[in-house]
Amino acid sequence: MEHPGPEEFEVAISHAIAAPEAFGASFDELPASEGLELGEGLAGDPALAFRRTLGMFATGVTIITTRAGEQVHGMTANAFMSVSLRPPLVLVSIDRRARMCNLLHEGTRFGVNVLEAGQAALSDHFAGRARGGGVEPRFELVRDTPLVEGALAHLVARVVRSYWGGDHSLFLGQVEYARYGEGEPLLFHGGRYERLGRDPRVFSALSRELLEPILALGEERAYAGGEAIMRIGEPGGELLLVLEGTVRVERPGRSVLLGPGELIGEIEVLDPEARRIADVHAEGPVRCLAVTREQLLAALRAHPRAAIALVEVLASRFRETA
Ligand code: FAD
Repeated sequence: MEHPGPEEFEVAISHAIAAPEAFGASFDELPASEGLELGEGLAGDPALAFRRTLGMFATGVTIITTRAGEQVHGMTANAFMSVSLRPPLVLVSIDRRARMCNLLHEGTRFGVNVLEAGQAALSDHFAGRARGGGVEPRFELVRDTPLVEGALAHLVARVVRSYWGGDHSLFLGQVEYARYGEGEPLLFHGGRYERLGRDPRVFSALSRELLEPILALGEERAYAGGEAIMRIGEPGGELLLVLEGTVRVERPGRSVLLGPGELIGEIEVLDPEARRIADVHAEGPVRCLAVTREQLLAALRAHPRAAIALVEVLASRFRETA
């Protein structure tokens, strides 16, 4: 996947690490076990119950990469966290049985490759659980560190401390390089890959033949560049089809451009209580077709096949999220 205009920056390393000495640097000492109490309904294998409990914490997915001589090694890890901005620090938790654990030492550099929503196969590959092969990861070297091509974000860090972490080892890395592109992250929750909730497509999933009688009732509108087309919080009583030009749809944390043929407000128009969840502006001169809720309902009454197809689309969307 291409990432247009990636933000790329070298992290200033003016703040030398001045942390107190690492505690628990020994990998042999175990603290006294307190025992793990499981809540009601969590009978069975306590280790499994503990694992499932932790699985409720949703994370992204990374590939940790490093180089040992000419050998490039990668492994999938979701136990990654940001630690500090000044100095820039991150932490990864690696199973002591993993090959990666033997490759990381204080002073070694490692890459953190934050996977994009379409890279679940890559995650399985670097977790050693790929089925059927077909994944050929490609690497580029940055600061002598292999980075997986196509990831959503990349960091290069140097191990500055390592800590005992039970059956895992914790590696604290000072970040030397960081960049990110645009896209959606791959998520991991409850032992499964997940994606961020997508913008629901409802009317645009209908065939042209079924959509046309609905749009035929609409009225054309023109907007000048920069003009607001919709604002967050307004009632959502209209469906808009972009006929010409580009519009910017902005939700907190997310901004997308839509062009001719794309629909806006597909869910809100079906719900009389709904409010707009995005600000929409014309990027330049824009022409749209606006269909009100009343016009839409009239079209569905006159064309029951379109109404049935719509119910089927909504049922399949419900299945995706249930
Ligand atoms: P291996 O098991 O030897 O290698 C892993 C896989 O990567 C192998 O299939 C290998 O062929 C492939 N590979 C390695 N280098 C290359 C290369 N240069 N080119 C092509 N392929 C290569 N474990 C943790 O310790 N911490 C975690 O936070 C963690 N999170 C996980 C999250 C998820 C979503 C998943 C699925 C697994 C996670 N694991 C985690 C488990 C971990 O990924 C596996 O146990 C992994 O196999 C350990 O890797 P390893 O270093 O032992 O290397």
